[in-house]
Amino acid sequence: MKKSEQEWRSELTAEQYRIMREKGTEPPFTGEYVNEKTSGIYRCAACGSPLFSSETKYDSGSGWPSFCEPLDEKHVETEEDRSHGMHRTEVMCATCEAHLGHVFPDGPRPTGVRYCINSASLKLDPEAKGRVDEE
Ligand code: FE
Repeated sequence: MKKSEQEWRSELTAEQYRIMREKGTEPPFTGEYVNEKTSGIYRCAACGSPLFSSETKYDSGSGWPSFCEPLDEKHVETEEDRSHGMHRTEVMCATCEAHLGHVFPDGPRPTGVRYCINSASLKLDPEAKGRVDEE
């Protein structure tokens, strides 16, 4: 799915556009889902693709929603990111290519990874549980 520039502009808030299209980052501890405990599925805020389950969300202390694995590896894409003088791995939505955040090798066992994701890139679907397999 490829959205036109006009669609991106009209469907996202200015903050979402800055993060999802221009690879921005929301300040830590400011996002809507940092401390969210509701169970459900976190979808891409741009295209609705199911990305993460609340069951894999944990408190990393980083100030961003953190997950120890994606709902489905096929729903996210990663790419080397050497911007800002750092060497990181960027995480994107595999469906619409929106920027989501980064993945770091310092997560809890058993996966050992931390998907550090901007709240602005996510939309919690609290009723999606059990429905996601049908997609
Ligand atoms: Fe998407």
